[in-house]
Amino acid sequence: TDQRVFSSTASSVENSKFAKALKAEFPIFHAYPDLIYTDNGATTQKPARVLVAEQDFYTRSCANVHRAIYTLGEEATSRYEEARKTIAEFIGAKPEECIFTRGTTEAINLLAHSFGETLSAGDEIILTEMEHHANIVPWQQLASRRGIKLRYIPIYDDGILNLDILPQLLNRRTKLIAVTMISNVLGTRNHVEHIIAQAHSAGVPVLLDAAQAIPVEPINVKELDADFVAFSGHKMYGPFGIGLLYGTRKWLEALPPFMGGGDMISEVGLEGFTPNEVPYKFEAGTPPIAQAVGMAEAARWLSSIGHQAAGNYESELGQLLIDEISLIPGLRILGAQPGFPLGPRAGIVSVTLEGVHAHDLAAYLNRHKITVRAGHHCAHPLAQRLGVVSSARFSFGAYNTREEVFTIAEILQKAHKELL
Ligand code: PLP
Repeated sequence: TDQRVFSSTASSVENSKFAKALKAEFPIFHAYPDLIYTDNGATTQKPARVLVAEQDFYTRSCANVHRAIYTLGEEATSRYEEARKTIAEFIGAKPEECIFTRGTTEAINLLAHSFGETLSAGDEIILTEMEHHANIVPWQQLASRRGIKLRYIPIYDDGILNLDILPQLLNRRTKLIAVTMISNVLGTRNHVEHIIAQAHSAGVPVLLDAAQAIPVEPINVKELDADFVAFSGHKMYGPFGIGLLYGTRKWLEALPPFMGGGDMISEVGLEGFTPNEVPYKFEAGTPPIAQAVGMAEAARWLSSIGHQAAGNYESELGQLLIDEISLIPGLRILGAQPGFPLGPRAGIVSVTLEGVHAHDLAAYLNRHKITVRAGHHCAHPLAQRLGVVSSARFSFGAYNTREEVFTIAEILQKAHKELL
């Protein structure tokens, strides 16, 4: 193909050719040429550029940050701060609003602790029925620490949030809405713009869990007008062990630090400490430096392939899979109601096959070199709401092709015949 990026004007077939060519940039597909990797919701594969960037940091710039007076240490610090600047630009934020964490989970825990310090018994936080455990459990822990009440926006059977309920859930005691942009099980792209507008008109800040959104759509935190945004490097073609919490400067300055240790202080005496300025106030101890460098490279890579068009293409792959498999007897697509048009969705499709455990289905698919996640996908309340014990989830990435979708559909047809 001579196409150099994903394009919203190109056909799905053309974009698929580009996706196939893109595989060459991923060492893992050289090691396993037949692998059909469709577990991108769990983690994405890493392009060589990202691996090289991380290795290059260790080979040429390895030193600890922020405390060094020697050249190599200054070099490490400047690469770490460059990485912060790159990620900040990637999401339309200022560098001081970007806190490096180990991932989405740590980002949300950080906020639950720091923001939690400002709450008192009887205050309320609104979540949704489709949250990942990472955006439920830290709030439940906070709720039991401080006597806070959690309320949940329900979903319809077609996997869409019932936002008509939101005005009833919002009240004087509401202190925060924490919601996922894209469900990691259903693929639903929630109308967070509407949620933020409603929340702000009630004076309530919003945290977006962007773990599944960041790889498939360019996010501008200022245009979204989000107060907090959390995401992970490893789900956006970057390294493990690195993620980000964005917060508006106003909020970050108002909140107390989470963990204590080096770097997060400006002064320590035996009687107490003075916190450092933002964002360092929230970065205690040695940060994941090389991983930050790798994450910044992943952000550059995502921008270079046509970020939005890539996400659109992956949605089309999801729709294609749904079209190809919806007539398989006994196969249920979670959050898709026969006869209902699908709302905006990412390329995430979770299925159950009647009479077959999702683990058996995943093992069967694995024999055909197709990788899916099977289980409850860290969203027990959602599984309960949908009445399923476990499901098998296909989640597409930028290197998946239409041919792979057709192969998956074929194998699912066979699975239905062979496993029952
Ligand atoms: N939120 C959502 C929607 C997710 O899909 C995930 C990961 O599966 C997380 C949070 C947690 O991300 P991490 O494990 O990288 O902290």
